[in-house]
Amino acid sequence: MSRTAAVVIIGGGVTGASIAFHLAARGVRDVLLLERHALASGGTGRSVGIVRQLYPTPETTQMVVRSLRVFRDFGEAVGGDAGYVACGCLIGVAPSMRASLEASMARQKALGVKAEVLAPADVARVEPRIDPTGLGAVVWEPDSGYGDPTSVTLGFADGARRRGVRIEQGVGVTAIRRAGERVLGVETTTGERIDAPVVVDCAGLWSPAVARLAGVELPIVIGRHPVFVVERDRDFGPPHRVYLDLAGGAYARPETGDLTLTGSLTDDEARHPMDPERLGAEVGHDEAGAALERTARAIPRLGEARYRRGWAGAFDITPDWMPILDETSVEGFWVAAGMSGHGFKLSPAVGETMAALITRAEPPVSAAPFRLGRFTTTAPAATFVASYLT
Ligand SMILES: Cc1cc2nc3c(=O)[nH]c(=O)nc-3n(C[C@H](O)[C@H](O)[C@H](O)COP(=O)(O)OP(=O)(O)OC[C@H]3O[C@@H](n4cnc5c(N)ncnc54)[C@H](O)[C@@H]3O)c2cc1C
Repeated sequence: MSRTAAVVIIGGGVTGASIAFHLAARGVRDVLLLERHALASGGTGRSVGIVRQLYPTPETTQMVVRSLRVFRDFGEAVGGDAGYVACGCLIGVAPSMRASLEASMARQKALGVKAEVLAPADVARVEPRIDPTGLGAVVWEPDSGYGDPTSVTLGFADGARRRGVRIEQGVGVTAIRRAGERVLGVETTTGERIDAPVVVDCAGLWSPAVARLAGVELPIVIGRHPVFVVERDRDFGPPHRVYLDLAGGAYARPETGDLTLTGSLTDDEARHPMDPERLGAEVGHDEAGAALERTARAIPRLGEARYRRGWAGAFDITPDWMPILDETSVEGFWVAAGMSGHGFKLSPAVGETMAALITRAEPPVSAAPFRLGRFTTTAPAATFVASYLT
């Protein structure tokens, strides 16, 4: 059995759904998104959904600013509900990083980021439950917060469907067909052949395996990033802000039901390769203990919170911890992967950028820093913390 499509998108996480939406919004007809399980069943469904704006380059800054605008106005811009909570985000840095933070902040403000640098002693004004010991400065982003990655994916998918995109769940891609250095289409778990001049790999944690089907090697490692859930006690008071403690290596963001999602910012994901099929697995008692200790140093009142559960998440990490948004050496075979832990907060801009690139239009933000050819090594050379600030 065979049929055709103008574009086949592989993967129904937030990246694939956003690209489908933005292609359709640009008037591309006959877009087909294939998801082997269910929408948002991959990394997206395990994500913490934090949206912070501190980024080190003009392009990443522009992308997060554009994305934040979409999250805040999701019903109007896309349809549906992003579950966006603008609770504000604080980012603590070590004293050695203060000067580069101030320089970075000045550049970011010129690009539309609303933020201020606080002295550690002034943090209490915004979030008195943070312990500022050991910090050199704290960024306060009042418009940042967190969203619901599954809702955002479903919102993009529904918006795409309304514009004519076909979305098929439970259909995996098993082969990518090519003639020489040109893509011809895909084969699927249903035994179908789909002819398409454009195929987009948005398979997140599985993107290297999907690219290999086309004979393309991606410089991406899958690194483990576990998440822990604690229940705040009744006396904790109102939910805390999102807090990213780059100096102490912990983050915490509130969730409904008096819960907090927390984890580590210790930059060790790339040293812990993970089989993506282990996504969602239980976490170990010892690793939970070590992570919660760091959380308690950052927000001591969370030391009294009750541990509820944890799960194994993972990032698709490139050597510079920045996405790949590009056509590969196989003409018509594109990649939007290697999100390196940024894939939720950048998803609206990633979709917009990829849709422009695929239709050979000028993207709203330069995609030059996201080219596949930029790497000279496959080993992660940068760190997650350097994706905030250099
Ligand atoms: C624990 C955790 C915390 C995170 N926290 C944040 C955060 O706070 N802020 C932030 O911005 N980002 C965060 N991220 C990162 C962000 O969530 C991800 O980068 C993003 O969701 C990835 O989306 P994706 O669509 O690229 O990939 P995925 O969501 O993994 O989607 C890929 C899809 O491809 C499908 N697929 C795979 N192979 C095939 C095939 N052969 N055929 C068809 N379909 C296939 C999979 O089933 C999957 O649904 C976090 C991620 C994790 C795991």
